[in-house]
Amino acid sequence: MSATVRHPAFRSVSDAQWSDWRWQLRHRVTTLADLEPLVDLTPEERAGIEARAGTFPFAITPYYLSLFGGPDCPVRRQAVPHVAECEPSADDWSDPLAEDDHAPVEHLTHRYPDRALLYVTHTCPVYCRHCTRQRKVGDARSAPSRADLDDAFAYLERTPQVRDVLVSGGDPLSLSDDRLVEIVARLRAIPSVEVIRLCTRNPVTLPQRITPALLERLRPYHPLYVNTHFNHPKEGTAEAAAALDRLADHGFVVGNQMVLLRGINDDPETVAALGRFLLRHRARPYYMFQCDPVAGTAHLRTPVHVGTEILDALRGRISGLAIPHFAVDLPGGGGKVTLAPPRQVAHDGAVRTFRGRGGRLFRVLDPGS
Ligand code: SF4
Repeated sequence: MSATVRHPAFRSVSDAQWSDWRWQLRHRVTTLADLEPLVDLTPEERAGIEARAGTFPFAITPYYLSLFGGPDCPVRRQAVPHVAECEPSADDWSDPLAEDDHAPVEHLTHRYPDRALLYVTHTCPVYCRHCTRQRKVGDARSAPSRADLDDAFAYLERTPQVRDVLVSGGDPLSLSDDRLVEIVARLRAIPSVEVIRLCTRNPVTLPQRITPALLERLRPYHPLYVNTHFNHPKEGTAEAAAALDRLADHGFVVGNQMVLLRGINDDPETVAALGRFLLRHRARPYYMFQCDPVAGTAHLRTPVHVGTEILDALRGRISGLAIPHFAVDLPGGGGKVTLAPPRQVAHDGAVRTFRGRGGRLFRVLDPGS
């Protein structure tokens, strides 16, 4: 696998700079004036950038921008605002998962008994246009202070039923190594916290951030899991593959949470290709999420049946390891439900009839209770 072909504007950048995540962050493209010379924007993209300024900003690393193709490119569509983001729909939410309603202290959501979500920053290398937290992500002023995080740690210390903490944001890998290690160490010092998960899209949008130095510093705090968020096989570059390999080599258990997006990844071939890429690099395709009904994302949402049809098409065709669970996170804080294509077609007493490979029907004698 060869390295990503850089956008012409970045070809004279030294390899050392290109591989330096701080250089990538410093050179993020964040304004229309900076993006226009680099990308032949459509009128809809230009209008989207202007309309969304001040509500949900955009930011794109030079690395991620180098993956862009034309206006229909699945990478470009995730990163460049579009005027369709301004079209309201009948089911628009600001906080669809009711995260703020289940916050016993600021910057921490505790909805399920044994899990909590800790928000440590509101910054990300790239602001995904489908982001569930666009109500606060990108607004550096709303990021937690040290005192805020102290309150969150104190809550976890007095709430021992929380065994699993998801460190999220924004993207926690936007923090410095020192700050991130400090947070992880503080969590690991809480005896009741068994599992720590880092929720990060850096392997996708800024794989240079997955440095051996950071991973070595985090290694003492295992078990550490990484929830990452690849949405399309085009994101499966040599750099991303190397980042996933480094995570696995350093003992991290990596799971991927893709989001189904209309016209971007809503077909079985794309999901299969993404699953195969992830497995080659020891990352487990974990969830395929229905896109949350966040205001500004109506044009990206797919009908729910698309998810089950994709699973139906994949089952039996590719390894079950490569097939994610299809989940709908119920708006209003109802939690996740996983959906699967119905395979049982009849149930008569102790005999159940299932549709199997090639559409053939198979009878199973149910042992009963
Ligand atoms: S990386 Fe995650 S938190 Fe940041 S914009 Fe993308 S989806 Fe939202």
